[in-house]
Amino acid sequence: MRLIVIGAVAAGTSAAAKARRNTEDAEIVIYEKDQYISYSGCGMPYFLGGEVAHAQDLTPRDPAFFKSKYNIDIYTRHEVLAIHPDRKTLDVKNLMTGEEFTNHYDKLILATGARSIKPPISGADADNVFMLRNINDMLRIQAFITDQSPQSAVIVGTGFIGLELCENLTARGIRVTMIEKLDQVSPGLDPDMAVYVEQRLKANKIEVLTSSEVTGIDGTEVLLSDGRKIGAELVILSVGVRPEVTLAMEAGLVIGVTGAIRVDTYMRTSDADIYACGDCIEQFNIVTNKPVYRPLGSTANKTGHIAGDNVSGSSVEFRGILGTGIYQIFGLAVAMTGLSEKEAVKEGYDVEICHNIKPSKPEYMGGKELVIKAIADRKDGRILGVQIVGEDGVDKRIDVFVTAITFGAKAEDLFHLDLAYAPPFSTTKDPVMYTGMILDNAIHKGRRLIRPVELAGLMKAGRKVQLIDTRTASQYRKSHISDAGNIPHEKLRESIESLDSQAITVTYCNKGVTGNAAQNILINRGFHEVYNLSGGNNTYEKYCEEKR
Ligand SMILES: Cc1cc2nc3c(=O)[nH]c(=O)nc-3n(C[C@H](O)[C@H](O)[C@H](O)COP(=O)(O)OP(=O)(O)OC[C@H]3O[C@@H](n4cnc5c(N)ncnc54)[C@H](O)[C@@H]3O)c2cc1C
Repeated sequence: MRLIVIGAVAAGTSAAAKARRNTEDAEIVIYEKDQYISYSGCGMPYFLGGEVAHAQDLTPRDPAFFKSKYNIDIYTRHEVLAIHPDRKTLDVKNLMTGEEFTNHYDKLILATGARSIKPPISGADADNVFMLRNINDMLRIQAFITDQSPQSAVIVGTGFIGLELCENLTARGIRVTMIEKLDQVSPGLDPDMAVYVEQRLKANKIEVLTSSEVTGIDGTEVLLSDGRKIGAELVILSVGVRPEVTLAMEAGLVIGVTGAIRVDTYMRTSDADIYACGDCIEQFNIVTNKPVYRPLGSTANKTGHIAGDNVSGSSVEFRGILGTGIYQIFGLAVAMTGLSEKEAVKEGYDVEICHNIKPSKPEYMGGKELVIKAIADRKDGRILGVQIVGEDGVDKRIDVFVTAITFGAKAEDLFHLDLAYAPPFSTTKDPVMYTGMILDNAIHKGRRLIRPVELAGLMKAGRKVQLIDTRTASQYRKSHISDAGNIPHEKLRESIESLDSQAITVTYCNKGVTGNAAQNILINRGFHEVYNLSGGNNTYEKYCEEKR
């Protein structure tokens, strides 16, 4: 059997190596139009920031490695020009010599990846304007920085790659302005979590321009639709990627609703002898079972492995993704998995939302605050998605949530997880468990939550809300939500006669714990409709006051 793979980065090399592990009988060939193979694209921002010392550290393998270890022939600088499924042949061009030839395959795997989207604006091709997708892009940016020593940069787009570049260019002493078309940074997050990222950027002297559209680049000026001009010696366009599906389309393969190649759970395309994997395919979401396009290295490696397995006689099925992601920005770790609130609402779920603010471990052991936003289905308590920001322990919590959501956990299940505890690592009840308890209390035990944005909306609409700040008088004096009266928690029982038990009542403290204690008292004394403010005054201030 001759197996041919197109593309030799994450998915293509995973597929080929897996196929070889299953069989010694196949001839395995990879065509790659670039000269770099099997590199860590994810490490590129850190090379530009100086944390990764040598470009070679990101490209540790060459064709000789694959030949000697796996008996795989990788032809770099060879572009596949066309696929002929009826004849099971490929047209290939040797980019070094210009020679064109045809090769026959028995099985074919497309791992053609994705390419950066170049926005249709004037000046996008200028010498000081870059995109970052592959090692060549990275080396061009590096050479520009070394030769031109730019003092200022504009990064267009605030997805994780733009943000990682922001941190790394700043580390090199370049003054960065981030420009984002939406009214928030980090589009994958809900707005009430994105504010933490925006604040971290501003705290590190990054200029952040949201709701700002770039219309062109003129020399060292970036032009915005409202007429503003932003000075930038270096411009990086980081507005997303598109799946590379040209070959697949021309070969008549079915393209999915997301614009990426449609595959089944075995990574088979609409042609029985052609498989596809990595950033060129669409995946499906575990929660909704619907197609999604999330081009990530984690998934590219996994789907490559699955394609390689299935093409070589073994059988393993893809089980979908949650779109889990994590990045770091100026010491803040930001992670997300499953559906955001926006997505869950769009999908028609009746959502329960909680903002759980807890230390990652005891403060006496250096614990740092985690803000966990969790989204659950009110109908059955199933966890739909989670977003976390914090300086410590974010990675471990998100992975616990990923595991829980993958296996269909409900809010009440999280309390029962037997999570590891000792002071250097966590708290006796881990923040993950608290998250489940808060949601379970809200969904099943009448301890309802109100989100800051909902409370602000009620007040704006002139609805009568009995708003009780349960913190100490000095905390209240320092800052409180307008319209709130101050009844410290320990005085609530003696003040209860002064309150209207029939009014919509909202209790709050700094983060939610004392607010919940006050809520319990009022509910147990027969109050009609009592909500605890999700995430307390801290979350309210962060989001609602910022947005005012
Ligand atoms: C700056 C940056 C940071 C990232 N950070 C993360 C991260 O932290 N975590 C994460 O999970 N993911 C991250 N990613 C995403 C990750 O790098 C990609 O998901 C991954 O590289 C996809 O691998 P792939 O093999 O599917 O596609 P690609 O890496 O796009 O490789 C496809 C290859 O196919 C070749 N090809 C295409 N067409 C042809 C043709 N006709 N003939 C021959 N060859 C062809 C291309 O030249 C290319 O080399 C990051 C990406 C970037 C750019």
